[in-house]
Amino acid sequence: MSNKYEDVIIGLEVHIQITNLKTKLFCSCNADYRGEDPNLYTCPICLGLPGSLPVVNKKAIKFATRLALALGCKINDSTYFFRKNYFYPDLPKNFQISQYNKAGGRAIGDGGNITIKLDGKKKNLRLNRIHLEEDPARLVHKGSIATSPYTLVDYNRSGVCLIEIVSDPVMNSPEEAREYLKQLKSIVQYTEISDLDLEGSCRVDANISIKGHARSEVKNINSFKEVERALKWEIQRQKNLLKRGKELIQETRHWDEKRRVTIGLRTKEFEKDYRYFPEQDLVPIEITRDFIDQVKKELPEMPNARSKRFQKDYQLSEFDSEILVLDKDIADFFEKGVKSEKSFGPDEYKQYCNWLMGDISRWLNENNNVIKETKLTPKHLVDLIKLVNEGKITGKIAKTFVNEMMKGTTISEIVKKSGKSRIADKNKITKIVKEVIKENPDIVKDYQKNPRALEALIGICMQKTKGQLDPEITKQLMQKHITEITN
Ligand SMILES: [Zn+2]
Repeated sequence: MSNKYEDVIIGLEVHIQITNLKTKLFCSCNADYRGEDPNLYTCPICLGLPGSLPVVNKKAIKFATRLALALGCKINDSTYFFRKNYFYPDLPKNFQISQYNKAGGRAIGDGGNITIKLDGKKKNLRLNRIHLEEDPARLVHKGSIATSPYTLVDYNRSGVCLIEIVSDPVMNSPEEAREYLKQLKSIVQYTEISDLDLEGSCRVDANISIKGHARSEVKNINSFKEVERALKWEIQRQKNLLKRGKELIQETRHWDEKRRVTIGLRTKEFEKDYRYFPEQDLVPIEITRDFIDQVKKELPEMPNARSKRFQKDYQLSEFDSEILVLDKDIADFFEKGVKSEKSFGPDEYKQYCNWLMGDISRWLNENNNVIKETKLTPKHLVDLIKLVNEGKITGKIAKTFVNEMMKGTTISEIVKKSGKSRIADKNKITKIVKEVIKENPDIVKDYQKNPRALEALIGICMQKTKGQLDPEITKQLMQKHITEITN
């Protein structure tokens, strides 16, 4: 760990929407609002009309329990909801139904942890709790919030189920926060409760302080990717102020994604300002041992266990398998692919893993895409690896196939279309080698003093054939013919 951040303390509150719930947390309105016209999915409950009564979505409790178990939390046997009071246009009731871990209240799960690995070192990051709450409505501004002439409200999002994962202030650098979120995202993906690739499905509030000074809370960082950037900026801001002899104040700041700065919103409200009190319209929820056991039984294999299994079943290294299992879709793809080809063994498993982690991940990053949205199939990659191993194309040519493969073109079609198969025919290669020797007398002359000129000649052969020549055979033949001439 670099000393740059040794006095930094970071705690994260991550809000994730449980997007795999069909309905909202306290009413039966459709929760899948993305791409829909505004204010389509509303009812008296999520509009906060007087006299309407909320009813808890049982599946939300199940999903929250599942995540709590996956994160190693202690599940509380009884839990109830609180009203968090504040006045804002996205909150028609003027309070948000949430959970509270004081005044007799308990969150659905306490404790838990997420293990990260940074610079080869493992670190166990403690969680404080996870709890359920309702999402407020969505406010829509024209351009930026500061300059928009109006605010529109879309109640489709009002009442959608959120789980908040609160860490202890245990992170010491933006990089640790990044790794924490990476692992959290992976665990959420494996629990199959939510798709965090959906826009707006996760929001992060970050508490940041320099040891011994007041903390600021940076609100509404709207994607995991932005968190590291926002933290770096905010830490620098605080350090600059301290350097100039100023003192920091406890405040809430807003991350402006476009300008990439944090802006002071208000001096931090204190917990008492929210006047938390129990939500009397909802009964306490009893969580029985049987219920927990049932949820535990249905818990899918988690990334840690899967990584260990991959090391055993496919003889992958710890390093490879830990990266491979991080994205469940990629790990599923891997298993489907290698299991479909009986002739594959440890060497091919490693090759398959390398393709996924290397060229294919790079393509996904560059195109801002995820594997399940592409037309690449596990079989494509099996075919490609076989083609290389049978010596029909070189590894270098195989790399040029990736773009077409991602669009769903089969390997045989790509080979046919590009005419790029490997040339291993000695007669064909000899012809090209002789041509190149004849056309480049200067380099041939140079070879007598400088053996490295051979590489230049081979390079020209490759250029002429767009890299299709077998490099080993070309080298042998070039050496043979050039020696014949120069002797
Ligand atoms: Zn509703």
